Amino acid sequence: MTKYNVAIVRYREKRNSVGEAIDLSGSLDALKPGNRVFIKPNIVLWTEKTVFPKWGVITTSRVIEDIVVLLQERGISDIMIGEGIVSPDPKNSSVAAHACRALGYEKLNSRYGVKLVNIFERPFRKVDIGDGFEVRCNEDILNADFVVNVPVLKTHVQTIVSLGMKNLKGVLDIPSRKKCHTTDSTKPLPYVIAKLPGILPPSATIIDGIFTLERGPGPDGKARRSDIIIVSPDVLSADMVGARVLGYDAAQVPGLVYAAGFRNRPLDRSDIAVKGETIESAASFHEYDFPYNANGTLHRKMELMGVKGLSYRKYDDTMCTYCSIINGVILQAIMSAWKGEPWNEIEILSGKKMQPTPGINKTILLGQCMVNLHRDNPDIHETLPIRGCPPKFDEAMTVLHRAGIAVEAEFFNNTEMSLSYFMGKYRGKPEFDESFYRIE
Ligand code: SF4
Repeated sequence: MTKYNVAIVRYREKRNSVGEAIDLSGSLDALKPGNRVFIKPNIVLWTEKTVFPKWGVITTSRVIEDIVVLLQERGISDIMIGEGIVSPDPKNSSVAAHACRALGYEKLNSRYGVKLVNIFERPFRKVDIGDGFEVRCNEDILNADFVVNVPVLKTHVQTIVSLGMKNLKGVLDIPSRKKCHTTDSTKPLPYVIAKLPGILPPSATIIDGIFTLERGPGPDGKARRSDIIIVSPDVLSADMVGARVLGYDAAQVPGLVYAAGFRNRPLDRSDIAVKGETIESAASFHEYDFPYNANGTLHRKMELMGVKGLSYRKYDDTMCTYCSIINGVILQAIMSAWKGEPWNEIEILSGKKMQPTPGINKTILLGQCMVNLHRDNPDIHETLPIRGCPPKFDEAMTVLHRAGIAVEAEFFNNTEMSLSYFMGKYRGKPEFDESFYRIE
């Protein structure tokens, strides 16, 4: 039986730790001098005016620099770093440039000639990922000889883990990303994620676990300092080991089940050879989900606060990133607006398939998908739509006010500020070192 190598190494030393994991796993052995290499970090989102917690959310610049130097030592000079960053304002193209400066990528350009690519400023090509499901993928990654995929070791509220395969969603254009969150039960989000590696050139996966994250993928999760690097020439093997390190068997993760099925691989990791540290020595359980009440109609924190007269259903995997951002802001704003007086039987629906509960007084429809789906739904007494794709923050505030929830304008006028709110968790904890996100 073919054995797929995966190396687990403690991150102790600049360059040497990533180099050791690459050597143990043989992940760059297929590279030849002169190859074009595309590095895909996981930047998730960025803000220009405020500081937000990057630990466990964004790939460290330290690991990216290590990879660039190690590639150069192997005679690779044609290196590109490409990402399609989400920001609260998707039309703001200065956000990606700001991220490149702040993360030190411009220094990689001046020192090593690394090209920096904002994929939204580059062409996309239509690709069939299988079974007629088409996406538009960045051309630079499709034209590369080799991809170095550098996700973060994190759990994810919709997909349980977000590792190598999930990181590849970031090279699709925005309509394709939205399409990944499909209502088609034969091709749900985990199915699409499992298909993505098949459209790309050969790759190595280097999972950055210097900082790991519970309840990812964003800054509202909880980071840990874990100092782990997981490397493999095979993305599925890297993800299976990464998932186990986070506390999940492949059989519990639908994306891994699909991917193993497509490749006729076992789910028990019996065809994987782990080098370096053992999985057991690296493993530490990370929660993936925010707890809700028993019937999924209220965030547990709201239930504990005693919130009454509101049903705010738990997101499902048809909700895509832009609705997730505003959903997080609305949750925070509503919690802060609760003053102990029951609201007037309000329901908030999100994603692409939620159905209203009959008998509710006011139904808030978050996002254009919900607005379109329930335009003439007889089960809705009074519709309060938050239109747009992505939905508009100012309209969300107005709608919540109309429903009788007195949310503060600050949450909606300055969405970047709401991300900086999460910095509080890390104050006074020196292990959360911002310098990992700079290049000196
Ligand atoms: S409205 Fe929301 S769920 Fe629908 S496509 Fe747009 S971002 Fe996705």
